[in-house]
Amino acid sequence: MERAYIGLGSNLAEPAEQLRQALASLAQLPTTRLVSVSSFYVSDSLLPGQPRYTNAVAALDTDLQALALLDALQAIELGQGRERHERWGPRTLDLDILLFGNQQIDEPRLRVPHYQMHLRAFVLYPLAEIAADLELPDGRPLGELLAACPFAGLERLQP
Ligand code: ATP
Ligand code: MG
Ligand code: MG
Repeated sequence: MERAYIGLGSNLAEPAEQLRQALASLAQLPTTRLVSVSSFYVSDSLLPGQPRYTNAVAALDTDLQALALLDALQAIELGQGRERHERWGPRTLDLDILLFGNQQIDEPRLRVPHYQMHLRAFVLYPLAEIAADLELPDGRPLGELLAACPFAGLERLQP
C-alpha cells in the first residue's frame, strides 16, 4: 500500500462542485481509501485570460499501482467532461499525482513527484494542511518548499 497525494483543480462549470464530485469518485476507487482532504483554495490562473482556479489536495491510501491510479484519475477527468485542447487550457477537472509514497517515477505518461509541485502555492499550501511533516523522496522537507513559495494570491475558502 502507498500513500498518494492528488492535486485537484478546476476552473470551469462550478469548480467547487467539480472538486466535490471528484472527491466522491476518489473515495470509490478500488482498493483505495480517501484519507484526508484539504480546504479549497482559489487563485488566479497562471495563464492570463482564464477563469480563476479552485484547487485542493487529497491523501489516498491505495493498493493500485501508480499507472493504474493514473488511468483511474484520467477516467474521472473524462467522466466530468475534461477536454484537452491547448496545453494548460481551462478545464472542468485536473487530477495530478503529486506524490506516490516515496517512489520516483520517470515514464512517458507519469512523472512523480509532479514536476512543478515545488513551484505552485495552490499545491504546496493545501498539501501542508493535510501533511505538514511530509518529506519529498529526495529528502527535502515540505516546509523548505513552502518557505520559498509565497502564499500571496491564494484565497482559502471556509470549509
Ligand atoms: P501540469 O502537468 O503542468 O499540471 P496539466 O495537469 O494540465 O499540466 P494534463 O493535460 O492534465 O496536464 O496532463 C498531460 C499529461 O501529463 C497526461 O496525459 C499524463 O500522462 C501526464 N502526466 C505526467 N506526470 C503526471 C502526474 N504526476 N500526474 C498526472 N498526469 C501526469
Ligand atoms: Mg495539472
Ligand atoms: Mg493534469
